[in-house]
Parts: sequence; C-alpha cells; structure tokens
Amino acid sequence: MTNVIPLDFNHRPKPPTTAEAINALIDIALVAENGSRPRRDYLGGSRLGDPCARRLQYEHLDLPRDPDTGFSGQTLRIFAVGHVFEDLAIGWLRRAGFDIRTRGRDGEQFGFSVANGRIQGHIDGVVVGAPPEAASLVAAPALWECKSANARNWKEIVRRGVAAAKPVYAAQIALYQAYMGLAQTPALFTAVNKDTAELHHELVPFDAALAQATSDKAVRVLQACDAGEWLPRISAEPGHFECARCPWQSRCWA
Ligand code: SF4
Repeated sequence: MTNVIPLDFNHRPKPPTTAEAINALIDIALVAENGSRPRRDYLGGSRLGDPCARRLQYEHLDLPRDPDTGFSGQTLRIFAVGHVFEDLAIGWLRRAGFDIRTRGRDGEQFGFSVANGRIQGHIDGVVVGAPPEAASLVAAPALWECKSANARNWKEIVRRGVAAAKPVYAAQIALYQAYMGLAQTPALFTAVNKDTAELHHELVPFDAALAQATSDKAVRVLQACDAGEWLPRISAEPGHFECARCPWQSRCWA
C-alpha cells in the first residue's frame, strides 16, 4: 500500500501579478541606473534649505544611508514625473507669450559655481520677456523656478505662499537670485498641481538675509566636513519629525 502525501495548496508562494512583475523589473532598472550615476562632489543649491546642517554633511560626504532608506524605484519615478511637469510648465508659459530661457548656447542648463566649484546650482530658467498683458507684473530678467506638488502641498503653497509653506524652496530661490545676478527683480515661482494640473504663479522678492544665511550655511557645512567635525543636530530628540524621516537617523543617533 502506498502512502499518500497530503498536498497543501494553501502555502504555495503566490506568484506575482503581471503588474508586480513588470514594476519590479522597472524599479530594479531605475535603482541600478541611479546607483551608477557619478557621485555629486559639490553642495547643491537646491538642498541648502534643508533645516538640518548635519544631514547636509552626511549627504555631502556620501555616507551610507540606513538600510532600506535609499531612493526606491517609485521615488525615482516621482522625481522623473516632476521633470515632465516642469517641461510642460515651460511650454505653457511660452505659449502664453513668456520668453523663458532654460539653456545657454552650449546647450547646458544655466547655473552657478562658487567656492572653487564646491557649491553649485542649476536653475530652471530665466524670464527674459513677458507678454504685454503681464509686463507690468513680471519684470525681466527674472529667475524662474518651478516645482510640482501633490494637491495637498500645492494648496498649502497657494494659501501661505512659497516662503512660508516651503522654506527649502525659498532658500533655494534666494540663493539662486544672488548667485545668478537676478536679485534686482522678483523671481517668478510656478507650482504645478500634479493631481489637477492647476497652476500657481507667485512673485518672490529677493530676500537678501535668507540668501546670505543660506550661503553661510553652505560654507559652514563645507568647513565642518573638511575639519572632520559634526555640526549640531536639528533636535535633541531622535523622534523629531525631521529625524524620523532622515536616511541617516541610525548613524546620527548611534
Ligand atoms: S537624524 Fe536628525 S539630527 Fe541627524 S542628520 Fe538626520 S535630521 Fe539631522
């Protein structure tokens, strides 16, 4: 008499759905591509508004992030979608009659490099001309910065203004105005609602104190990195909301 081996159909691993299988392949490719990009050896102007200077040090020194905190495929896709919205916004503004330049004759994005190349930034564009209907509103030349945001963040920007709602963006704008020689005119800030395609435009007067403070912070970060010192943490508590979402939380508080 042969023994019958009971079959347990409940414990077979569930095969991935078509979507899961394809998305996994895409994410693997995106993460690998991102990992193969050369390391940025300068402090990026767009990051200097980060409220934690120590985090900027970790980032600049390219110290390993905590496990499972690297950019996922989905995060990389979100970044890429943001660039598409920016390109769309440029096209829409140009159709409305704005003359926006985004690249120099060499085809490169406009930008600046200071402190022997250790602080750099690349701007979204320069408004060099506005249509007659808006010429009294938007003075040229003016820095143009564009961000895309989900509906909740976009509404917050509209309600409070970019400086109050997104200080990181405000610091970036002030620094870019200063280093690009565009401090004489208010910057034009455009925010695209990723959920509804609504547009917000806001004039941002040059904030000299913010530009100086942001530049000083960059110098402090570089000097501390060179000296092997750590700048103060943003909080005395690892549970602070900035630390809770920080990719160097374990390293920082170990
Ligand atoms: S864990 Fe907190 S204090 Fe440490 S680098 Fe991150 S944000 Fe700054």
